[in-house]
Amino acid sequence: MSTLLEVSGVSVSFDGFRAINNLSFRIGNAELRAVIGPNGAGKTTFMDIITGKTRPDEGRVIWGEKSVSLLRLSEAAIAQMGIGRKFQKPTVFEDQTVQENLLMALKNTRGWLGVLFYRPTATDLQKVDDLATEIGLWQELTRKSGELSHGQKQWLEIGMLLAQEPRLLLVDEPAAGMSPQEREHTTDLLVQAARTRAVVVVEHDMEFVRRLNCKVTVLHEGSVLAEGSLDHVTSNQDVIDVYLGR
Ligand code: ADP
Repeated sequence: MSTLLEVSGVSVSFDGFRAINNLSFRIGNAELRAVIGPNGAGKTTFMDIITGKTRPDEGRVIWGEKSVSLLRLSEAAIAQMGIGRKFQKPTVFEDQTVQENLLMALKNTRGWLGVLFYRPTATDLQKVDDLATEIGLWQELTRKSGELSHGQKQWLEIGMLLAQEPRLLLVDEPAAGMSPQEREHTTDLLVQAARTRAVVVVEHDMEFVRRLNCKVTVLHEGSVLAEGSLDHVTSNQDVIDVYLGR
C-alpha cells in the first residue's frame, strides 16, 4: 500500500510539558486506521498537528506522492490538499434540509467565484443523491437537519466532508452517544468510506474499534505504544498496563 501521510519524529511541548514525544505514524491510501489511547495520550494534539492547527517543535509531516511537507502550510491549505476533519460534535445547518446541507458542502469546493455564482447542476444533484445514499440518509433528503437524530446528524456531517472529496478523513469519536443500531451503521459507513480514501478514527469504545476490523495505533504519553490488529495490541503487556493504570 503506498503511503499517503507520513509523520516522523514529531514532538510538541506546551509550557515545557511534552504532549507529543517523538511520534511516528504512517497511513496508506484507502486505509482504515483506529487511533486509541487513554485520556491525555495526545490523540487530539496529534490530529491538530496533521491538520496544521498545532505546529510541532520538531519532526516531519509529509503528504502524498509528491512528498509535500505540511509543516509550512496553513490549516486552510492543508484542508485543500485533501485532509478533512470531523470533530465530535456534529455541526450541520439545522434549519436547512439534508439536501441543502450536502449541496452547500459541494458548493464550498468551488472556490469563491464558484460560490458566488453557484447554481446546482444536474450532476451536483446526482452527487448529493449518491452521497445521501452512501451515508444512509437518502430517504431524509428533504427533512430539516434539526429534525434528525444525533446519529443521523453525525452521518450528514461525514457526508458533507465526503462532498469535499478528501483523500484522508480524520474522525473523532464518531460513535459517542449513539444507539447500538446507529453505531452499527456508523461502522459500515466508515468501512465503506475507507474503500476509496484513508480514514483515521479516534475512538475510546473498544467494541466499536473491534467492529472496524482494522489496524490499530495505541498512543500513550504522546508516543506510539503499540500498533497492529486489535488482538495484537490488546495482548501487549505495555498496553494492558496502561489501560489498567498500572
Ligand atoms: P487526548 O486527546 O488523547 O485526550 P490531548 O492531545 O488532548 O490528549 O492532550 C495531550 C496532553 O497535552 C494532555 O496532558 C493535555 O493536558 C496536554 N495539552 C493539550 N493541549 C494543550 C495546550 N494547548 N496547553 C497545554 N497543555 C495541553
